[in-house]
Amino acid sequence: MSQSGPSLQVLVVDDSPVYRELVSQALQGQDYSVTFAKNGREALELFAQTAPHIVITDWMMPDVSGLDLVQRIRGSELAYTYVILLTSISDKAMVVKGLAAGADDYLTKPFDPGEFCARIGVGRRIICLQRDIEAKNLLLQEAARTDSLTGLPNRRAIEEWAERQIRGASRHGYPLWVILADLDSFKSVNDNYGHDAGDLVLQKFAEVLRGTTRASDICGRMGGEEFVMVLTHVDQNGIFPTVDRLREQFASLVFRFGGNSASVTASFGIAGFQGREIAEFSQLLRRADEALYAAKRGGRNRVEVAVLQP
Ligand code: GH3
Ligand code: MG
Ligand code: MG
Repeated sequence: MSQSGPSLQVLVVDDSPVYRELVSQALQGQDYSVTFAKNGREALELFAQTAPHIVITDWMMPDVSGLDLVQRIRGSELAYTYVILLTSISDKAMVVKGLAAGADDYLTKPFDPGEFCARIGVGRRIICLQRDIEAKNLLLQEAARTDSLTGLPNRRAIEEWAERQIRGASRHGYPLWVILADLDSFKSVNDNYGHDAGDLVLQKFAEVLRGTTRASDICGRMGGEEFVMVLTHVDQNGIFPTVDRLREQFASLVFRFGGNSASVTASFGIAGFQGREIAEFSQLLRRADEALYAAKRGGRNRVEVAVLQP
């Protein structure tokens, strides 16, 4: 990571016009976007508006003190802000108090412009590290909710999403359907054509599912060769044809493995609910699973619908 990195937002808070000017001069020509506040109250407003990366604040101000400001910044939900106290107070006990309140660094007035810029450079480094960590955390969170083979949401993500949708469906009274799909005789795909061929079929099934799912609905991989969809806003007459089209679409695909052509089918079990009582997702899944096994017993490559729960 370079010292020059992306342009950072810096908020400078000082009731002294002389110090605002000295800070402005020290930062001239550097890659910072600087805003100035003349007092603590203005600083709080600008802080909320601009979410600066670095705050450089005077301690003694007529309204909100630098110390109060630090505490307010630390109490905020915004991303980490690097705070430097710039003060004429050099008493060590006070410095300790400032750092304990949440300041990252302090500088005493009058300051040396070179040292001042170097210390802001430290702040830049910390903020850039912080950003990297946050970006990696986001990626990790995403990965923890995604099935790596198909790129679909995994069981955990589906469960979270479904619980929310179920609450919405019961609040507004629209129907919600849980559809479990399991590839038929999938073990024989692996046995006959190899595991990579099996993986390809799983990816293709995921693609077909994704194509059927509207932006407002969700599909995911529960694990193995079992997938799930949660659909809303489809009525009782519409759900069977919707899923049956999907079944047909997948069954009509022809896979070529080596010199062989193969088709794979899937069975589907559907359970739904409509009403004001909040249903349990786990219970809907269990009922969809029973319907799925009825489809398997019925000969596979079939769709079975459990009776709609009131
Ligand atoms: P049924 O029609 O009754 O569902 O039979 P099936 O063969 O599909 O069911 P079974 O549970 O006997 O076998 C599932 C197979 O799915 C066995 C397992 O190796 C395979 N499988 C599970 N996960 C993966 C995967 O990620 N990749 C591949 N290639 N195969 C997988
Ligand atoms: Mg299977
Ligand atoms: Mg299975």
